[in-house]
Amino acid sequence: MLKLGLIPNEEPDIRVGIVLPEDRKEIITLKTPKTINYSIITSEKTYNLLHNTEIKVKIKNDKIITTIDNNLQFETKNIIIKPDKAIKKENKAGLQINEVVAGRGFHWKKFININVTGVIEISNYNNNILVINELPIEEYLMCVATSEMGSACPPELIESQTITARSWMLANIEMKHVDLEFDVCNDDCCQRYQGTTFLTDQSIKGAYNTFGQVLMSDNKICDARYSKSCGGIMETYENVWEDTPISYLQGIPDAPANFQHESLPMNTEEKVEKWILDTPESFCSSLTIAEEELPKYLGGVDDEGKYFRWEVNYSQAEITKLLSNQLNIQAKSILDILPIKRGKSGRLTEIEVVYIDNLNIQLTLKISNQYYIRKYFDEKFLYSSAFIVKKGKIENNIPNSFTLLGAGWGHGVGYCQIGALGMALKGYSTENIVYHYFPGSVLKKIY
Ligand SMILES: [Zn+2]
Ligand SMILES: [Zn+2]
Repeated sequence: MLKLGLIPNEEPDIRVGIVLPEDRKEIITLKTPKTINYSIITSEKTYNLLHNTEIKVKIKNDKIITTIDNNLQFETKNIIIKPDKAIKKENKAGLQINEVVAGRGFHWKKFININVTGVIEISNYNNNILVINELPIEEYLMCVATSEMGSACPPELIESQTITARSWMLANIEMKHVDLEFDVCNDDCCQRYQGTTFLTDQSIKGAYNTFGQVLMSDNKICDARYSKSCGGIMETYENVWEDTPISYLQGIPDAPANFQHESLPMNTEEKVEKWILDTPESFCSSLTIAEEELPKYLGGVDDEGKYFRWEVNYSQAEITKLLSNQLNIQAKSILDILPIKRGKSGRLTEIEVVYIDNLNIQLTLKISNQYYIRKYFDEKFLYSSAFIVKKGKIENNIPNSFTLLGAGWGHGVGYCQIGALGMALKGYSTENIVYHYFPGSVLKKIY
């Protein structure tokens, strides 16, 4: 596993969580590829598998039962599945794992079959299946580049995305899954990884062309955050995570240096409204890349949505039901949703809900943090917290609807994936792209 603060001088292996205890899987099936043999290693024995072999793993008490080709069966604590020789990096190379979650907890959640190279460990974690994939980091990164973005992307986008992902990974600040003994999970909580399922020649090239290159600042590897679309202005680190600002994560326009807009700096509600109702010409703007062009560049499991500017409508009944459930309140009707504090990109960091409860008392509830605002204002997860609220017709003091008009998708801090695509299509170099999103950082090859 990676260690916090350690700058590796050779390519490290990393551990990726593929099936997590929270997925509540009691059974999982896998299949070896057509051309490569694998072995299953247990504490007692090694089983040699031929190609095209089906493996079924099922939870039983505190152990797992492995069945090979509906035939051979054994019960163990855990198993390791290992290829007998090195696997050539290509599309769909490696072991197939069926029904893996993509978009865990988000509104675009799906189950997909994926292929992975490297070694697979399967164990029983509190009566749920845990699957971990261990592989060299560069192999992981080439898969992340295409899982995060579609294969039609220009090389500068794939290279800049790979440098960003590598830096974030090796900075290893979050260590969200250390108690389950893996470095990152396979999903948006960390970085989206779908093995070699969508691997392309360009992403393999992207990893080799930038092999070992990371962004550095202050002799440390940069905590290079990224999201789908900033909405035109990047958000600062302190408005999303902790209070301490990070020098290379700034709230600057995602646009050329001479970019101007009447809403900048965005320090009043009027300016925010103008900004969100407008379509400014930023790199991630639908003026730079038409929304209908995006599907060919974006990853395979994305929702087809509006990324730059979007709209969500709720009737009075719908918003009352939603917020009652999400906030665990007994609301009879919602009177108002008030912006209190915003970050540099217009993202709300504090909001107030004014409502009447079932005893006809008017109450106010405050919600802080863009994460919770996004979590509560949508059944699954709202695109971003950069939104303004428009009320419908008001009768007896009660609006009959609420419309959220918003900008961007994700937290908006650091690298903006759609903006980077816009820059790459406009002819900016890989270096220019990463320096734009992480101002003041320096590219360095560490291994
Ligand atoms: Zn994670
Ligand atoms: Zn952007």
